[in-house]
Amino acid sequence: MQVLRLEKKRLNHFLNVVKKGFELIAPVKSDLVRFSKIHHAEEIQLTKNSYFPVKEYFFRKEETLFQFEGTRITVPAYEAKKRVFFGIRRCDLNAIKNQDIVFIRDMGDPYYKAARENSYLLGYHCNTAPSPYCFCGSLDLVDFFDLMFFDKEDHFLVEVGSEKGKSLTEKYQEFFTDSQRLITRNEKTIPGVHRLENKDISRFYDHQDWKKGADICLSCGACTTLCPTCYCFEIHDEVKTADPVKGERKREWSSCQLQEFTRVAGDHIFRKEREDRFKHRIYHQLQYFKEKYGVQMCVGCGRCIEGCPTRIDFVRILNEMKNGKTENNG
Ligand code: SF4
Ligand code: SF4
Repeated sequence: MQVLRLEKKRLNHFLNVVKKGFELIAPVKSDLVRFSKIHHAEEIQLTKNSYFPVKEYFFRKEETLFQFEGTRITVPAYEAKKRVFFGIRRCDLNAIKNQDIVFIRDMGDPYYKAARENSYLLGYHCNTAPSPYCFCGSLDLVDFFDLMFFDKEDHFLVEVGSEKGKSLTEKYQEFFTDSQRLITRNEKTIPGVHRLENKDISRFYDHQDWKKGADICLSCGACTTLCPTCYCFEIHDEVKTADPVKGERKREWSSCQLQEFTRVAGDHIFRKEREDRFKHRIYHQLQYFKEKYGVQMCVGCGRCIEGCPTRIDFVRILNEMKNGKTENNG
């Protein structure tokens, strides 16, 4: 892959110029670090990964699927803003790849597809793990980006990963020079992110240690909200009581950790027990998705551990299952 060079002191200038042609989204520190619309490149911070994933720009928290009036249905115009996302880490880039599999390749979802179509993904390589909960190195992540920025003290090496990425470097060619080199495998390795010792959990289904997590789980759903790959949703209709033939059908994020999520007609609840829901999340992330799509869904970002109010570390629980330890989690 082609590798270009961008001087660090020119990064903000480059992004401020990009901002004139695109909506620019990057990590910003407010109360927490989150992906936000950038007004000046100086707002961007790259020391910590975003607490919230970038998925809400593609798989929105709430989406109006259509409006109805009696039997007449109107589908809103799909949003296809030209956006450049800067500062996305390797885990989150792979999470977008996994959500593309579900929403584009499998479901052909026009809302998600439109949001993704005009987006450019500019990654930022982690030279060190941004959080002690990261374990992306234990999973089979791949290169997935339009451009990837490797931080090299006074400059960035910028790897071109797609035709879209190439077109951006051509459009803004005054900022780039040819680096005359390639990025080595070693440079792509992130130290200290191999925490998960065993990702094949098929033989653990009946293990007693699931209780270490399930017993202190609050079923709050923070883990799935913060997860860049989770994609459970529910659909409901909103109508005005004064005129109930008019309304909107909406899709909203939901969570497999909520008991209501598995309640079906006839009032049957498929996963009534908290332990079943807790286990289901981990099995979906590490096993079921792979059985269906050939790749693990989890990308090892660690957000579900960092953001859990009782700090349930499922990686530690799985490691203890593997190693036969049974002390309490916490
Ligand atoms: S964030 Fe923690 S407490 Fe809340 S549902 Fe997830 S695992 Fe349970
Ligand atoms: S399951 Fe947890 S570690 Fe894996 S991608 Fe989701 S939030 Fe990140």
